[in-house]
Amino acid sequence: MSDFLIRNADVADFDDLSTVRKDIYIKDGRFEKIADAIDPASCPAATVIDAGGKLAMPGFTDCHSHVYQTFIKGPLDDLVITEWLVRLFTFEEYMTDEDYYYATLLSCLSAMRFGTTTINEMGGYEHMDATLKAFEDAGIRVTFGISTTDIPENEVTPIISVEEAIARSEEVYRKCHGRNHGLMKASVAPAGLPAVSGEMAKALKAWANERGLIYHTHLGEGKMETERVAREYGLGGEAEALEQLGILDDKTLLAHSIWLSDKEIDIIAKSGAIPVHCPNTNMKISDGIPKIAQMLKKGIPVAMGCDGEASSGTKDMVREGKAGSYLQKAITLDPTVMDAGTTFKMMTINGAKALGYDDLGMIKEGCQADLILVNMEDDLSLTDRDHRIGNLLYAGTGHAVDTVFVAGDLKLKDKKLVGFDEDLIIRKCNDLIHDLNVRTGYVKE
Ligand SMILES: [Zn+2]
Repeated sequence: MSDFLIRNADVADFDDLSTVRKDIYIKDGRFEKIADAIDPASCPAATVIDAGGKLAMPGFTDCHSHVYQTFIKGPLDDLVITEWLVRLFTFEEYMTDEDYYYATLLSCLSAMRFGTTTINEMGGYEHMDATLKAFEDAGIRVTFGISTTDIPENEVTPIISVEEAIARSEEVYRKCHGRNHGLMKASVAPAGLPAVSGEMAKALKAWANERGLIYHTHLGEGKMETERVAREYGLGGEAEALEQLGILDDKTLLAHSIWLSDKEIDIIAKSGAIPVHCPNTNMKISDGIPKIAQMLKKGIPVAMGCDGEASSGTKDMVREGKAGSYLQKAITLDPTVMDAGTTFKMMTINGAKALGYDDLGMIKEGCQADLILVNMEDDLSLTDRDHRIGNLLYAGTGHAVDTVFVAGDLKLKDKKLVGFDEDLIIRKCNDLIHDLNVRTGYVKE
């Protein structure tokens, strides 16, 4: 692995939206030294990159994802959720190992191109080997768990027994945990209480606890489903049910967290569990709007995720953060909530901590060097060097990201992926997606 000396980087401070110009020496995948000026002669083995005043930020952490959906975002557009789910499972049935490999690769590379360095993936079991190989080849940091269900929500839901869920989790752990120089970690990822029995939830939580792993699940995403769970448990909602089952703690990630009572938000705050805000999905498939501003006021360190592209349409965390910030301002009638600094913290340090890292999501000596440089001087609409952090969120997109490092490894340079032929990947994926659309009968040959 190469070492790097990045000179003249404007390091973003999310507390006061200021920047401070620094040189950054990356050695063995970590921030070795950050100082006003570092003499290249002091690190002769390092490759020198002049950031030329580009904005430096920690890499983004996408805390809720289903990467394979990048191949099926078109056919799932503009559908009501019941039909959306049936079509999702139908497409999954038709996807091959090769589809999963290239979908995962395409989604990871898109995410990295937009500055994401970590993905928290809820994936599928059927093509797990191809999926894990693609994560490894992409070189992105990932926490991977397989979506498990034992309550059929419709006639095509793939259900398995609790024993099988544990056996599959063992397999994920064996094949994934610690892989690719530790960039890959295992988790458990039961889909959510509408489709998961209390018995399965408890068994997977206990299994994860024994290994110190994350429990990653959907929470309160659909109104009707949440009401059904509340009735079945005789409680106020899904969060109350999770509390009763002993699932909620600081190793539990709760994607969406929309249909929650005030009492449940207090329960989550006390438990340390982390909601993951996925606003593009919430809007596009009309789930509802979570009370994120209220959660933040209670001190809950909410993280953010792009979810699957079949529901969000994008792997761009900047667009995700902007959507979330605007939504909260609109529903609270308060423009101060989810301000730019808070939103970027949700996209970086909060996500890293949620996934169990205490040395990630910060540009700090000793921490893992997941770093992005943002060039806002080649985009007319982003011009104003004094307000770059706010402008990136409110006026920009992830396209402004210019350089990406994952654990000190250079993945994007001058807006081009390093080590990948983008044109080749686009051509290959276009062909595979078209074949899939034809096989499933949604598009004519
Ligand atoms: Zn999801």
